[in-house]
Amino acid sequence: MRIVFLGAPGSGKGTQAQRLVRDYGLVQISTGDLLRAAVAAGTELGRQAKAAMDAGELVSDDIVLGMLRERLQQGDVGRGFILDGFPRNLAQARALDTLLAELRQPLDAVCLLKVDFDILMKRLTGRRTCSKTGKLLNIYFSPQAELDACKAAGGELIQRDDDNEETIANRLKVYREQTEPLVGYYQQAGLLKVVDGEGDPDAVYERLRLALGLTG
Ligand code: AMP
Repeated sequence: MRIVFLGAPGSGKGTQAQRLVRDYGLVQISTGDLLRAAVAAGTELGRQAKAAMDAGELVSDDIVLGMLRERLQQGDVGRGFILDGFPRNLAQARALDTLLAELRQPLDAVCLLKVDFDILMKRLTGRRTCSKTGKLLNIYFSPQAELDACKAAGGELIQRDDDNEETIANRLKVYREQTEPLVGYYQQAGLLKVVDGEGDPDAVYERLRLALGLTG
Protein backbone atom coordinates (compact mmCIF):
# COMPACT_ATOMS: atom_id res chain seq x y z
CA MET A 1 0.00 0.00 0.00
CA ARG A 2 1.32 3.44 -0.91
CA ILE A 3 0.09 6.30 1.22
CA VAL A 4 0.72 10.01 1.69
CA PHE A 5 0.13 11.53 5.13
CA LEU A 6 -1.07 15.11 4.98
CA GLY A 7 -1.45 17.23 8.07
CA ALA A 8 -0.04 20.23 9.89
CA PRO A 9 3.17 19.95 11.90
CA GLY A 10 2.14 18.22 15.14
CA SER A 11 -0.90 16.47 13.65
CA GLY A 12 0.62 13.07 14.48
CA LYS A 13 1.88 11.95 11.08
CA GLY A 14 5.09 10.48 12.50
CA THR A 15 3.38 8.75 15.41
CA GLN A 16 0.72 7.14 13.23
CA ALA A 17 3.19 6.20 10.50
CA GLN A 18 5.28 4.32 13.09
CA ARG A 19 2.21 2.22 13.98
CA LEU A 20 1.52 1.28 10.33
CA VAL A 21 5.19 0.33 9.97
CA ARG A 22 4.93 -1.93 13.04
CA ASP A 23 1.69 -3.63 11.98
CA TYR A 24 1.85 -3.80 8.18
CA GLY A 25 5.53 -3.79 7.25
CA LEU A 26 5.25 -0.54 5.34
CA VAL A 27 8.28 1.73 5.14
CA GLN A 28 8.00 5.25 6.60
CA ILE A 29 9.69 7.88 4.50
CA SER A 30 9.90 11.17 6.38
CA THR A 31 11.60 13.91 4.41
CA GLY A 32 12.08 15.80 7.71
CA ASP A 33 13.97 12.80 9.17
CA LEU A 34 16.06 12.44 6.00
CA LEU A 35 16.94 16.13 6.15
CA ARG A 36 17.79 16.01 9.87
CA ALA A 37 20.06 13.03 9.20
CA ALA A 38 21.83 14.99 6.44
CA VAL A 39 22.27 17.95 8.82
CA ALA A 40 23.62 15.70 11.58
CA ALA A 41 26.04 14.03 9.14
CA GLY A 42 27.29 17.46 8.05
CA THR A 43 26.83 16.74 4.33
CA GLU A 44 26.76 19.53 1.75
CA LEU A 45 23.06 18.89 1.27
CA GLY A 46 22.52 19.15 5.03
CA ARG A 47 24.36 22.47 5.15
CA GLN A 48 22.15 23.82 2.36
CA ALA A 49 18.98 22.66 4.10
CA LYS A 50 19.72 23.79 7.66
CA ALA A 51 19.00 27.52 7.37
CA ALA A 52 15.54 26.92 5.88
CA MET A 53 14.75 24.29 8.53
CA ASP A 54 15.82 26.54 11.41
CA ALA A 55 13.56 29.29 10.07
CA GLY A 56 10.60 26.94 9.60
CA GLU A 57 10.66 27.50 5.82
CA LEU A 58 10.54 24.79 3.20
CA VAL A 59 13.81 23.39 1.88
CA SER A 60 14.10 23.74 -1.91
CA ASP A 61 12.04 21.34 -4.01
CA ASP A 62 15.16 20.16 -5.88
CA ILE A 63 16.95 19.00 -2.73
CA VAL A 64 13.92 17.25 -1.25
CA LEU A 65 12.89 15.61 -4.53
CA GLY A 66 16.40 14.32 -5.17
CA MET A 67 16.47 12.77 -1.70
CA LEU A 68 13.05 11.20 -2.15
CA ARG A 69 13.84 9.78 -5.58
CA GLU A 70 16.93 8.09 -4.14
CA ARG A 71 15.01 6.72 -1.15
CA LEU A 72 12.17 5.28 -3.27
CA GLN A 73 14.66 3.34 -5.35
CA GLN A 74 16.03 1.39 -2.38
CA GLY A 75 14.98 -2.25 -2.20
CA ASP A 76 12.91 -2.13 0.99
CA VAL A 77 9.86 -0.27 -0.33
CA GLY A 78 8.32 -3.28 -2.12
CA ARG A 79 5.50 -3.81 0.41
CA GLY A 80 4.60 -0.16 0.25
CA PHE A 81 5.44 3.12 1.90
CA ILE A 82 4.05 6.03 3.85
CA LEU A 83 5.24 9.46 2.81
CA ASP A 84 5.33 11.58 5.97
CA GLY A 85 5.92 15.29 5.33
CA PHE A 86 6.04 15.04 1.55
CA PRO A 87 4.64 16.58 -0.63
CA ARG A 88 4.38 20.00 1.01
CA ASN A 89 3.40 22.17 -1.96
CA LEU A 90 1.72 21.77 -5.34
CA ALA A 91 4.97 21.58 -7.30
CA GLN A 92 6.09 18.66 -5.11
CA ALA A 93 2.71 16.93 -5.51
CA ARG A 94 2.94 17.16 -9.29
CA ALA A 95 6.55 15.97 -9.27
CA LEU A 96 5.52 13.04 -7.07
CA ASP A 97 2.81 12.02 -9.53
CA THR A 98 5.37 11.99 -12.32
CA LEU A 99 7.96 10.09 -10.28
CA LEU A 100 5.50 7.41 -9.13
CA ALA A 101 4.14 7.01 -12.66
CA GLU A 102 7.72 6.41 -13.85
CA LEU A 103 8.23 3.82 -11.11
CA ARG A 104 4.77 2.31 -11.83
CA GLN A 105 3.83 2.70 -8.17
CA PRO A 106 0.80 5.01 -8.02
CA LEU A 107 -0.65 6.16 -4.69
CA ASP A 108 -3.49 4.21 -3.08
CA ALA A 109 -4.60 6.88 -0.60
CA VAL A 110 -3.86 10.26 0.93
CA CYS A 111 -4.79 10.63 4.63
CA LEU A 112 -5.40 14.05 6.11
CA LEU A 113 -4.97 14.09 9.90
CA LYS A 114 -7.17 16.95 11.12
CA VAL A 115 -6.24 18.66 14.40
CA ASP A 116 -7.39 21.96 15.92
CA PHE A 117 -4.84 24.83 15.92
CA ASP A 118 -4.61 25.22 19.75
CA ILE A 119 -3.89 21.53 20.18
CA LEU A 120 -1.21 21.66 17.51
CA MET A 121 0.60 24.42 19.42
CA LYS A 122 0.64 22.38 22.64
CA ARG A 123 1.73 19.23 20.84
CA LEU A 124 4.64 21.06 19.18
CA THR A 125 5.85 23.20 22.09
CA GLY A 126 5.58 20.20 24.44
CA ARG A 127 7.19 17.65 22.13
CA ARG A 128 10.32 15.91 23.43
CA THR A 129 12.35 12.84 22.48
CA CYS A 130 14.01 10.62 25.09
CA SER A 131 17.76 10.71 24.32
CA LYS A 132 18.12 7.13 25.58
CA THR A 133 15.25 5.30 23.87
CA GLY A 134 14.20 7.65 21.05
CA LYS A 135 10.63 7.50 22.36
CA LEU A 136 8.43 10.46 21.40
CA LEU A 137 6.96 12.15 24.48
CA ASN A 138 5.08 15.32 25.35
CA ILE A 139 5.43 17.29 28.57
CA TYR A 140 1.71 18.24 28.45
CA PHE A 141 0.16 14.96 27.33
CA SER A 142 2.44 12.02 28.22
CA PRO A 143 1.79 10.22 31.53
CA GLN A 144 4.17 11.50 34.23
CA ALA A 145 5.41 7.92 34.71
CA GLU A 146 6.67 7.80 31.10
CA LEU A 147 8.43 11.15 31.45
CA ASP A 148 10.04 10.00 34.72
CA ALA A 149 11.04 6.66 33.15
CA CYS A 150 13.17 8.44 30.56
CA LYS A 151 15.11 10.29 33.27
CA ALA A 152 15.32 7.19 35.46
CA ALA A 153 16.92 5.33 32.54
CA GLY A 154 19.61 8.02 32.38
CA GLY A 155 18.04 9.78 29.38
CA GLU A 156 17.24 13.41 28.78
CA LEU A 157 14.13 14.94 27.24
CA ILE A 158 15.43 16.58 24.08
CA GLN A 159 13.56 19.26 22.16
CA ARG A 160 13.93 19.48 18.38
CA ASP A 161 15.79 22.61 17.21
CA ASP A 162 12.75 23.79 15.23
CA ASP A 163 10.22 23.19 18.03
CA ASN A 164 10.66 26.70 19.51
CA GLU A 165 7.66 29.07 19.43
CA GLU A 166 8.90 31.38 16.70
CA THR A 167 9.78 28.60 14.27
CA ILE A 168 6.59 26.72 15.09
CA ALA A 169 4.45 29.74 14.20
CA ASN A 170 6.21 29.99 10.85
CA ARG A 171 5.90 26.25 10.16
CA LEU A 172 2.15 26.47 10.73
CA LYS A 173 1.90 29.51 8.44
CA VAL A 174 3.86 27.70 5.72
CA TYR A 175 1.51 24.73 6.14
CA ARG A 176 -1.58 26.89 5.69
CA GLU A 177 -0.23 28.75 2.68
CA GLN A 178 1.62 26.03 0.78
CA THR A 179 0.54 22.60 1.97
CA GLU A 180 -3.18 22.97 2.68
CA PRO A 181 -4.04 23.47 -1.03
CA LEU A 182 -3.02 19.83 -1.50
CA VAL A 183 -6.23 18.79 0.25
CA GLY A 184 -8.21 19.98 -2.77
CA TYR A 185 -5.66 18.53 -5.17
CA TYR A 186 -5.97 15.02 -3.74
CA GLN A 187 -9.73 15.31 -3.26
CA GLN A 188 -10.06 15.93 -6.98
CA ALA A 189 -7.84 12.94 -7.65
CA GLY A 190 -10.29 10.82 -5.60
CA LEU A 191 -7.58 9.79 -3.12
CA LEU A 192 -8.37 11.85 -0.01
CA LYS A 193 -9.40 10.27 3.33
CA VAL A 194 -10.02 12.67 6.21
CA VAL A 195 -9.23 11.33 9.69
CA ASP A 196 -9.96 13.08 13.00
CA GLY A 197 -6.46 13.37 14.50
CA GLU A 198 -7.48 14.58 17.97
CA GLY A 199 -7.48 12.58 21.18
CA ASP A 200 -5.71 9.42 22.19
CA PRO A 201 -3.17 8.12 19.60
CA ASP A 202 -4.67 4.60 19.82
CA ALA A 203 -8.12 5.95 18.96
CA VAL A 204 -6.70 7.98 16.07
CA TYR A 205 -4.98 4.83 14.81
CA GLU A 206 -8.27 2.89 14.81
CA ARG A 207 -9.94 5.65 12.78
CA LEU A 208 -7.00 5.67 10.39
CA ARG A 209 -7.12 1.89 9.86
CA LEU A 210 -10.84 2.11 9.21
CA ALA A 211 -10.34 4.90 6.65
CA LEU A 212 -7.69 2.82 4.90
CA GLY A 213 -9.80 -0.36 4.96
CA LEU A 214 -7.19 -2.12 7.10
CA THR A 215 -9.51 -3.46 9.82
CA GLY A 216 -10.50 -7.07 10.31
P1 AMP B 1 9.09 17.78 9.59
O1 AMP B 1 9.93 16.87 10.41
O2 AMP B 1 8.28 17.03 8.55
O3 AMP B 1 8.24 18.72 10.40
O4 AMP B 1 10.10 18.69 8.75
C1 AMP B 1 11.02 19.56 9.38
C2 AMP B 1 11.53 20.61 8.41
O5 AMP B 1 12.20 19.97 7.30
C3 AMP B 1 10.45 21.47 7.76
O6 AMP B 1 10.06 22.56 8.56
C4 AMP B 1 11.15 21.91 6.46
O7 AMP B 1 12.10 22.93 6.72
C5 AMP B 1 11.93 20.65 6.08
N1 AMP B 1 11.13 19.75 5.21
C6 AMP B 1 10.64 18.51 5.51
N2 AMP B 1 9.96 17.97 4.48
C7 AMP B 1 10.02 18.90 3.48
C8 AMP B 1 9.49 18.97 2.15
N3 AMP B 1 8.75 17.97 1.64
N4 AMP B 1 9.76 20.08 1.42
C9 AMP B 1 10.50 21.08 1.90
N5 AMP B 1 11.00 21.11 3.15
C10 AMP B 1 10.77 20.03 3.94
